[in-house]
Amino acid sequence: MNIKFGPAGVGGVKEIPKRLKEYEKLGIKAAEIPFTYQVWIKDKKTAAKIKDYADKSGVELSIHAPYWINLNSKDKIKKEKSKKRILRCCEVANWLNVKRVVFHCGYYGGMSKEKSYLNIKESILDIKERVKKNKWQVKLCPEIMGKKNVFGSISEISELVKEAKCSFCIDFAHVLARYGNYKVQELKKAFPQKKWHCHFSGIEYGEKGEKRHIKTKKKRIKELLKLLPKNKQITIINESPFPIKDSILSIKTFELMKRK
Ligand SMILES: [Zn+2]
Repeated sequence: MNIKFGPAGVGGVKEIPKRLKEYEKLGIKAAEIPFTYQVWIKDKKTAAKIKDYADKSGVELSIHAPYWINLNSKDKIKKEKSKKRILRCCEVANWLNVKRVVFHCGYYGGMSKEKSYLNIKESILDIKERVKKNKWQVKLCPEIMGKKNVFGSISEISELVKEAKCSFCIDFAHVLARYGNYKVQELKKAFPQKKWHCHFSGIEYGEKGEKRHIKTKKKRIKELLKLLPKNKQITIINESPFPIKDSILSIKTFELMKRK
């Protein structure tokens, strides 16, 4: 079984070279660049340098788009701004030769789930069209979400993959929060693709789903690793408040399990 583990986070522009070296030493093979509040890699020249460091370190980078996105907004301007934020990430991804841009699709906002799905599908198709026009080699990865009142159930994301021909991000902490278990059998059916880009961390949740991300427990890591399909290339980005520490714990746990 082939799994790459790594944290959400690479420091800021200045820290990236040092961080990537550190990751390489620690056996970390992946990292996600969180553009949580804004796209902070601003120009092609900076991106080219980061790409070089990433190539040398062997760390596979992905991008997480800003949280302020609603592809189902009734407000046309807000919807267009959401698309632009994702497109900006795609442009930077193309500079970095990063293949995956992960994003949260948006909210039902009082609309039916069916109508929300159609709106979001249309938005993704539009973004895809513009990515294609720019000849950016990037895969759009809508993420499975942990709050039940937020768009992004397993079936919604897998339908988007089929109908909008996009890629996906399976957040196992979110799946746990939304459904009460990891739903691996259902996920295998919903996502037959060879490559799985995933998120994981500890999570607090209640009736409405996700409350917050917390430190990842070893027991939970073991539980998940045992369930994962063996015939896939899996990347697991840790999004706990201690993403590096928890990635290392995941790597160690996985190594021990493989030896048994
Ligand atoms: Zn996310």
